[in-house]
Parts: sequence; C-alpha cells; structure tokens
Amino acid sequence: GKWYRHEGRMVNTFEKKFAEANGMKRSVGTGSGTQAIHCGLYAVGVDAGDEVLVPPYTFIASINPIILLNALPVFVDIDYETFQMDPAKMEEKINGNTRAVEPVHIAGLSADMDRINEIAGKHNLGVVEDACQALFTEYKGRKCGTMGDIGCFSFQSSKILPCGEGGAAIGNNEELMNKFYSFHTLGVETG
Ligand SMILES: *Cc1c(COP(=O)(O)O)cnc(C)c1O
Repeated sequence: GKWYRHEGRMVNTFEKKFAEANGMKRSVGTGSGTQAIHCGLYAVGVDAGDEVLVPPYTFIASINPIILLNALPVFVDIDYETFQMDPAKMEEKINGNTRAVEPVHIAGLSADMDRINEIAGKHNLGVVEDACQALFTEYKGRKCGTMGDIGCFSFQSSKILPCGEGGAAIGNNEELMNKFYSFHTLGVETG
C-alpha cells in the first residue's frame, strides 16, 4: 500500500526490473516521459543558452523539456524514408553552443544511432534518447534507449506499456544517473 518512493518498495522494485528488462545497470522512475527527458538533458549538462539538436517530426513533449532548461531546440530534419532524424543533416546545425542531441525513435522505429553517436562523439555532445514511442524496439540487436547516455520512456495511456501517467529513464553511467536522480527528487542524493 505504500507507493511513495522513499518508504514504499514499488518504485525501487519497478526500477530494478525495468533496468534488467533493458539490460542496463540503472533505471529511475519518473512521473512522465517529459520529466525523464527534462532530467536526462539536465544530467548531460544542458544549461541556459545551450542548443539541443532534435527532430521536428515528433510530439511536442520532446521539445518542451529543452525550453524548460532555458536551452534552444535546434531542428534537424528527418529522413523521409524512415521518418527519423537524418544524421546527414546534423553537422550543419552544430556550433559552439551545441551541448546535446536528442534523437527521437518515432512511431516505434529506431533512429540511426550508430551514425548519430559517431557525430555526437566527434563533437562531444550528450546523447539523450527519446524512446517514449519505442519501448523494446531494437536497432542492430540493441534496444532503443540503451545506445546513448540516457534513454527516456513514457507509460502514458497512449504508449506501449500504459499506466495512466508515468515514465522512466535508463543508463549505465553512474555519475549521470546520480545527477538525474538528484534532479528528479528535490536535490537529494541517491539512496
Ligand atoms: C509521449 C511522448 C513523450 C512524453 O511522454 P509523457 O509521459 O506524455 O510526458 C515524449 N516524447 C514522445 C516522442 C512521446 O510520444
């Protein structure tokens, strides 16, 4: 009967199982997919005045968290064959203010993560995957949400695993996930 994260067991149990189901070390449950993306972008260092690359063909909740961090969404158009962010159009949008890329796996399909990660690595960008529509979608045998720094999911009523409202993030980098955890719950440490 106790749902509250710090006294109940449900959230911790869910996080453990959700991380395992995705083959990842860490998961943090959130109130929504929007909150997961907000905390994820914060964790990879997006701050006021930064720019975040994101495709325009998505739900508005991919964009809102960027603006909440006082950063600027910079649109990278999609590949019309796949409807996903076109990696060939990324580099022309990168400048000294670009801090992160937020590929969206739209409509249950995967973005071209090998090419996106390669360009992100070259320019030292954080990678926050918006996998809200792509739970358990696979790309070359790897699951969406496991290929960047942090992967974000939604359990809102219209999604693959609905629970009314809810969300979660996954990641393997302890430092980033600790920062994520702290930002999502009043600045307290993981524990
Ligand atoms: C649903 C969705 C979100 C946001 O999820 P909420 O849980 O509704 O906040 C973000 N991005 C995409 C692509 C979505 O489809």
